[in-house]
Amino acid sequence: GVAESAPHNRTLLYNLMDTYIKNDVLSIEESIVNHVEYTLARSRYNFDNQEAYQATALSLRDRLIESWNDTQQYFKDVDAKRVYYLSMEFLMGRSLLNALNNLGVVDQYTEALREMGYQLEDLIEKERDAALGNGGLGRLAACFLDSMATLSLPAWGYGIRYQYGMFRQTIVDGFQHEQPDYWLNFGNPWEIERLNVGYPINFYGHVSVQEEEGRQVFKWNPGETVAAIAYDNPIPGFQTNNTINLRLWAAKPGQEFDLEAFNTGDYVQAILARQRAETLSSVLYPDDRTYQGKELRLKQQNFFVSATIQDVVRRYKDTHDTFDQFPDKVAFQLNDTHPTIAVPELMRVLMDENKMGWTKAWEITNKVFAFTNHTVLPEALEKWPVSLLEKLLPRHMQIIFDINWRFLQQLRAQLGDDWDRIGRMSIIEDGSGGEKYVRMAYLAVVASHTVNGVAAIHSDIIRETIFKEFADLWPQKFQNKTNGVTPRRWLAFCNPPLRQLITATLGSESWINHLDALQGLREHADDPEFQQKWADVKAIAKSKAIARISELTGVQISDNVLLDIQVKRIHEYKRQLLNVLGIIWKYDQIKKMSPDQRSQVVPRVCVIGGKAAPGYEMAKRIIKLISAVGTKINSDPDIGDLLKLVFVPDYNVSLAEVIIPGCELSQHISTAGTEASGTSNMKFAMNGSLIIGTMDGANVEIAEEIGEDNMFIFGVLTPEVQRLRQERRNFKPDSRFEHVVGLIRKGVFGWADFFEPLVDSVTSGGDYYLLANDFPSYIEAQAKVDEVYKDKARWTRMSIMSTAGSGKFSSDRTIQQYAEEIWHVKPCHVPATEDEQK
Ligand code: PLP
Repeated sequence: GVAESAPHNRTLLYNLMDTYIKNDVLSIEESIVNHVEYTLARSRYNFDNQEAYQATALSLRDRLIESWNDTQQYFKDVDAKRVYYLSMEFLMGRSLLNALNNLGVVDQYTEALREMGYQLEDLIEKERDAALGNGGLGRLAACFLDSMATLSLPAWGYGIRYQYGMFRQTIVDGFQHEQPDYWLNFGNPWEIERLNVGYPINFYGHVSVQEEEGRQVFKWNPGETVAAIAYDNPIPGFQTNNTINLRLWAAKPGQEFDLEAFNTGDYVQAILARQRAETLSSVLYPDDRTYQGKELRLKQQNFFVSATIQDVVRRYKDTHDTFDQFPDKVAFQLNDTHPTIAVPELMRVLMDENKMGWTKAWEITNKVFAFTNHTVLPEALEKWPVSLLEKLLPRHMQIIFDINWRFLQQLRAQLGDDWDRIGRMSIIEDGSGGEKYVRMAYLAVVASHTVNGVAAIHSDIIRETIFKEFADLWPQKFQNKTNGVTPRRWLAFCNPPLRQLITATLGSESWINHLDALQGLREHADDPEFQQKWADVKAIAKSKAIARISELTGVQISDNVLLDIQVKRIHEYKRQLLNVLGIIWKYDQIKKMSPDQRSQVVPRVCVIGGKAAPGYEMAKRIIKLISAVGTKINSDPDIGDLLKLVFVPDYNVSLAEVIIPGCELSQHISTAGTEASGTSNMKFAMNGSLIIGTMDGANVEIAEEIGEDNMFIFGVLTPEVQRLRQERRNFKPDSRFEHVVGLIRKGVFGWADFFEPLVDSVTSGGDYYLLANDFPSYIEAQAKVDEVYKDKARWTRMSIMSTAGSGKFSSDRTIQQYAEEIWHVKPCHVPATEDEQK
């Protein structure tokens, strides 16, 4: 727990620090130089860009701490209902530019650094990405924190302080290699270590039962205990005084010494064994949408969840004597099933540690948890073997059995003896091989008051497929919350020229916090003068993106070609392979053209980027295929600038911030019904990129908002997918598809044997993701892209309409809906300080 600390001499202590740090240029210079001298212990006459970055970040952290302290004190004073966003992943990226913008001190810092001889842009590049996430799910959590802070909601994020984030991807001879991302190497100037905030986390052992005051009390005698230590990361909002918290837990050896181990003689071995506790929080599992039943992963889940529950219960009890108000003061959001162990953990804490009976504990649990589903792909659905849970978390397993038993009783009372249905809905799956599993998604559904999908079509799909019988039973439990992205990081801060143009056009900056105002751009979409300004602004961003892509790939790229980008995790369902097949088709077409025909071709550079999970063979072969096709096309003298294909290595948040603003055409081409939402589609649209895409995930709502005629939509629709899958053995692919696939098989790009499994996966009755079905409409849509691109005014108009229609996709809108319809929390604005009121 946290030690109480009452100031010994309040008046003196208050007067010592009764003002805030000033934000004039001189004060900023002083704070930076102070950190150079006293924190980094460098000479103020001699520090490099790395040290200047660190000192700058530390000086900003001081300012963030002031606002963090005020905010947390205020939440406590008004006893606000808090939201706790539980997520195994927070894909934060860099913090410097975000903090400067949110604190409103970009100009002062730029000037202060300039006077001292440093360039802000150089320092920004010194920061390592905090890549504590795989992709969309983790980045969503980061955007949500930004919106929760900006909307002044009393919210915190809770997660794990991984020492190794998402691996660094290098490409050697076209193959992906994984390098460890030891991002804390140079320290992390943003975090605040809280050595006084720590909790014991237990594993293994056994459960005993005692009779106490006439009731059964369960006692867990753990076999292993590690400590969770808190690291706080301040999250400032935009145009608010609020700064909220992301609390990340790091594992340390437990406090209690196992004296036995020390007394058996091998003192050094005993210390080393304890030290291994730290491995618990050392590494992020790099699997996006595949679940592997690894014991360490389950330990990580319990580790961060148990620390969080203990912390939240401790905070509640600091100011409340009973648990009666707990559901009025606490809301937990489960980001996917990864934190679902929180359900039995809260039950355990209430019953075993706070002497509460089952009925009341369950009622409270049911009122505080809500669950977000992120995917319907079967390989992603978590199922932990009962044997593993029994060994690792014996008390939790008992509680899960009890939850299930009571749930099945309730089902039987409502449905009668429909044993098939009861078996299908059971939280415990009776595997055919004799092994039993805990279906974590069902546990989350049963224990939560609300379950949501992340785009309208996805929420419909979960109601009709994986959770159908639950939705029939509890229709009111199911909601939709279409994802969003923060327009600060993903438009205003990463694309300043576009920010300025929008602000000049709409007359104020208020659109940044009220993104629907972008609609106001529509009335300018046909104005040639405005179109010219828009095109100029896009050209600046495009040129920057191309420069970065050239630098990373070593391929010279002209600024005068259509910039076509697909960046996202490499996955069969996202169909990077369809993209490549389309490129091969185009390449083959150009090869066969006369010089006259070639002069009509719209030159294009195709960029693909993204990481493959290290154990995902097919995805790694796709990367090699992209490289092989790129090598062939890029060195073909017949082709020149007409077509290029490059693979950008190590796609991450900070690279996304450079390439998304400059993109002209972005690809979101998953098989209908497979991409829950997608969020990069929203970022691209906001920055005026046109979308080529399927009617999947949030693309459907993007089409509603910006108009289908402003996008390039193709492909089969969700209701057709199941039938087409069943019929695919008899499907006769288009001859163009056969031809393109044949070129790979024949070895036109080399590596024919290596690519065989890829080609097989989309031919001869395979093709689970229906590439052959969608290929014809895909290349037609691409031909339409070329045609429209030739008409510059038309293209620019569509680009303006994309940005104008993307207001719905601000995560402010998403979070407002969570706050009102799920959490029932209200904004809690920290009052302005006297300084600011003047
Ligand atoms: N990875 C990174 C680094 C991102 O910034 C994003 C942004 O949305 C994603 C993955 C998710 O991309 P998508 O929605 O295309 O899957």
